[in-house]
Amino acid sequence: MGQLADRPPYQKYAVRVARSRIDGYGVFADEPIPPRLKIGEIRGETIPVAEARRRAAGQQRIMIVEVSARTAVDASQSRDPMRFTNHSCAPNARLQIRDGRIEFYALKAIAVGEEVTVDYGETHHEGRLACRCGAPGCVGRL
Ligand SMILES: [Zn+2]
Repeated sequence: MGQLADRPPYQKYAVRVARSRIDGYGVFADEPIPPRLKIGEIRGETIPVAEARRRAAGQQRIMIVEVSARTAVDASQSRDPMRFTNHSCAPNARLQIRDGRIEFYALKAIAVGEEVTVDYGETHHEGRLACRCGAPGCVGRL
């Protein structure tokens, strides 16, 4: 884990992957990230949605994002740090799916050492997983 030595050009801000109090590993800012700017992307293996759902079934930690009605990206073999981004019900970043790309943008200024979080919205967990984000107003399920 730790900082990525060879950062791809689509990873705009330095982040590190470290243990998170929310769940497993999380993504933490290694430099200040201004509001609204792109933080980075997740790239991975493009697969049909049906295959994505088969792979996701029964897994605790899912690294698959559906990018269209037919296509999904499986990032489990990816080295992109943003794939470790945790969900929060009060996130400081957002996920944007555009033209098959999985992009992360800051919603507010993110300080060095702060965990980067997004609202996952609909997930493969379908409400079966407890949310431990700790935010006031946490909906409690993923
Ligand atoms: Zn929550």
